[in-house]
Amino acid sequence: MALCLLCQQTLKKRVLFSDILLLKKEREGICLDCQQGFSPISDMHCPTCFKEGEKNVCSDCLYWEKQGATVSHESLYRYNEHMADYFSRYKFVGDYLLRTVFATELQTYFKDKRGHTLVPIPISDKRMAERGFNQVTGLLNSAGLSFQDFLQKEDTKKQSDKTRQERLELKQPFSIVENITVPENIILVDDIYTTGSTVQLAKQVLMKSGAKTVASFSLAR
Ligand SMILES: [Zn+2]
Ligand SMILES: [Zn+2]
Repeated sequence: MALCLLCQQTLKKRVLFSDILLLKKEREGICLDCQQGFSPISDMHCPTCFKEGEKNVCSDCLYWEKQGATVSHESLYRYNEHMADYFSRYKFVGDYLLRTVFATELQTYFKDKRGHTLVPIPISDKRMAERGFNQVTGLLNSAGLSFQDFLQKEDTKKQSDKTRQERLELKQPFSIVENITVPENIILVDDIYTTGSTVQLAKQVLMKSGAKTVASFSLAR
C-alpha cells in the first residue's frame, strides 16, 4: 500500500465526491493533509522578491537597492513550519525521495521560461560529501528540467548557523568552473530565499562573467 512520503499515512485511492467538488486531488506521493500544509504565495507579495504579505517593495529589497543591486526573484511557497519540516527531512535527514514532491509545480512554473538557462545554487564539496546530493539539482531533476551546473561554492558556515547580520554580510563563496561560456540570460535556482544574499553573491559572479540578465527563483520564500 502506498504511504505518504511525508507523514507515512496511507494514501487513499478513493476520491471522495466532496474532494471533486472542492477540486482537491491527492497528488502522487503525498497525502492531502500534507499537501494542504504547504502555503502558496498569495497575490499580495513584494513585487521584486515575492515576500508574502507585502504590498510594496519590502525592507530586504530596499536594502539591496541601497547597495546598488537589483532584485528579480520569484517563489512558489511560503517558508512556513510545514515547509521547514519538509526541508529538514529532505536536506538534513537526507531523504532523497522527497525531491519529487514539487515536480509538477516546478514543471508548470518553468514552462514559460524558455530562453533562460537554469543555474542551480551549488553546495560546497564538504556539504556534498555529508548529504550526498545537491537539494536544488534534485528538485530540478525530479521535474525533468535541464540546467547548467557551472557555479561552485567553497566551504563557509552553514546559512542556518549564521545570524541574520552574518547572512547579510557579503563574502563571495561562489566561482565559475573553468572554461565555461556563461549564457546571457540566467535564472538562478535555489531551495529557500531568506535575505537574498546568496542570490546576490551568485549574481555578482555571473554578471562579471558575461551574463546579461540574472533573475532568480526559489521553491520557498
Ligand atoms: Zn502526509
Ligand atoms: Zn522584497
